[in-house]
Parts: sequence; C-alpha cells; structure tokens
Amino acid sequence: MSEQSVVLVVDDDPLNVKLLINILESDYEILFALDGYKAIELAGLEQPDLILLDVMMPDQSGYETCEQLKAKHSTSDIPIIFISSLSDHDDETKGLSCGAIDYITKPVKAAIVKARVSNHLELKHARDILKQQASVDQLTNIANRRRFDEFLLQSWRTMQREAKPLSVIMIDIDYFKPFNDFYGHGAGDEGLKKVAKAMQQIIARPSDLLARYGGEEFVCILPDTDEEGGLYIAEELRQAVQNLEIPHQHSKANSVVTISQGLATTIPTSDKLLSNFMNSSDYALYQAKELGRNRVELAIA
Ligand code: GH3
Ligand code: MG
Ligand code: MG
Repeated sequence: MSEQSVVLVVDDDPLNVKLLINILESDYEILFALDGYKAIELAGLEQPDLILLDVMMPDQSGYETCEQLKAKHSTSDIPIIFISSLSDHDDETKGLSCGAIDYITKPVKAAIVKARVSNHLELKHARDILKQQASVDQLTNIANRRRFDEFLLQSWRTMQREAKPLSVIMIDIDYFKPFNDFYGHGAGDEGLKKVAKAMQQIIARPSDLLARYGGEEFVCILPDTDEEGGLYIAEELRQAVQNLEIPHQHSKANSVVTISQGLATTIPTSDKLLSNFMNSSDYALYQAKELGRNRVELAIA
C-alpha cells in the first residue's frame, strides 16, 4: 500500500479512543469520533478504510450506527470492527449480523488489535482493486461500458425524479481504421489513450461521466445539463482532441485526429424510453459523420 490507510475510531470514552490511537498511530492515519452521529458524518466525508466502533454509547448505540453506515451508499463498503466489553455470544452475533466484519472484546490487547486491523485492511485493499478494475477500462483508464450502463440508468432516474435535463454525447474517432492501418495498432492504442485523457480533463465535474463505449467510441453523460450546456461541452471536447495534434495523414476530415459527436438532451419522463434517447444520440452522431466529421450534431427532440 503506497498511501497510508485511514482508520476511524469511535468511542464515547476519550480514554478508550486514546488507547486505540496509541496502538495504531504508528501504522495508520487515525480519525476519531466520540458519538455515532459524528462517526457517520466523518465516515461519509473522509471515507476511512476501516472503522473501529464501540458498542455501548449513550446517544446512539454502536449497532444503530453500524446499521446506518451500512445503509448509506457512500459508507456501506467500509468494514466495521466492533469493540465492546460485552463479551457474551449474543452480542457478538448481533454485531456481526448488522454488518460488522469482526468483533474485538475489551479490554483490548494491542497485538490483537494490530493484527486484526492489518488483516482487514489488506482485504479491503484487495476488494477496492477488484471493484476499481470492474468499472475501469484497462487501456484508457476511464470508466468502462459496465460503469457507463450503471451510471446512465442512475442519472436517467435521478433526472426524472428532479425533472431536470439529461444530456448524452456519443463520440467516435474519425477515420480511425485508416489510422490503425497506416500507423499500426500500437500507435492506435496510444492515440486512444491520449484522446481519452484529453477528454477526461474536460469532463471534470464529479456528477458527469466519460466512458469508453467500445472500440474507438466514447460516451459522455451530463446530468442536469441542457442542450446549450451539452453543446458547450461537446465543442470543448472537439477542440481538446484536435489540439492534441496527433498527425493523421489518412483522415479526409483533417490532418490530425478528430472526433465526431452526437448530442441528445431530454427531461426524462415515465413515458419516454431510455433506449430511444440513446438511439437519438447515436443517430445524431451518424449525421455528424455524414455532414463531414470533426463536428457536433444535435438529436431531434
Ligand atoms: P469513421 O470516421 O466513420 O468513424 O471511420 P472509422 O474508420 O473510425 O470507423 P470504423 O468504425 O469502421 O473503424 C473503427 C476502427 O477503430 C476499427 C479499428 O481499426 C479501430 N479500433 C477499435 N478499437 C480499437 C482498439 O482498442 N485499439 C486500436 N488500436 N484500434 C481500435
Ligand atoms: Mg466506430
Ligand atoms: Mg470511427
């Protein structure tokens, strides 16, 4: 692990917090909270890699805190180890059944805490890598098709609920087959990486997504973005790719690598089909190709 792991310690007794900090601070970055509410807030904001959670706390118990952490999307993947003086089996079962990964009884032994924390952090790290690989395109390092499908459906539903516009841009590199044929597949791969990187720098808002759709096609999802905003982004993307100045002797559109784009914008409603919306952006892309490439065309609403 290159970066130091972050452990959140939660206990209403400052002395217990101090004890755990003493045990762990030489190996990890430690955050702490003295009650469940603060723990939930900190966990959401700081995304610790592991939480050590006291069971008996006055305002909100460790069990309730654990359940709430597990119910929230932003904190549900953070492993939780309960720390408690209650040593009977029922409590242990209760802790584990509400989503904790392990249970340590008080009084804690430094060696046990160190070993369990280290084991669970190793597992967490391995899970994070798997999760990242499952959603990232290995060549370009941007979101993959699977992530795109998930994000699109989620954005469609959110914009429907909020009655806000959703814009999607379908993007395709111009004359990329002749590029590969002339410069070679390795240069083609390098070109794809550069194009993806340049576009990712434009799509910087966390609410937006740029994904590799397949081959030399990309797609951009822009929630809460109207047609004017979508056009602005598409034009930025077009310029960013052209400005890379990747020579392309066999393009009929330009002397460098360029992209064509189809933009579709809609306010999703229950009587509209997501597939129709995607088809309309695809058709707009087709028109951008027909009309000369290195340009953006709008879908007919
Ligand atoms: P158009 O302007 O109409 O889009 O023409 P095009 O040549 O780009 O269109 P076409 O869809 O026929 O060709 C896509 C080409 O993209 C096929 C292949 O040579 C190239 N390609 C697709 N995926 C990859 C990849 O992962 N790596 C490399 N190097 N090339 C790829
Ligand atoms: Mg294509
Ligand atoms: Mg193409």
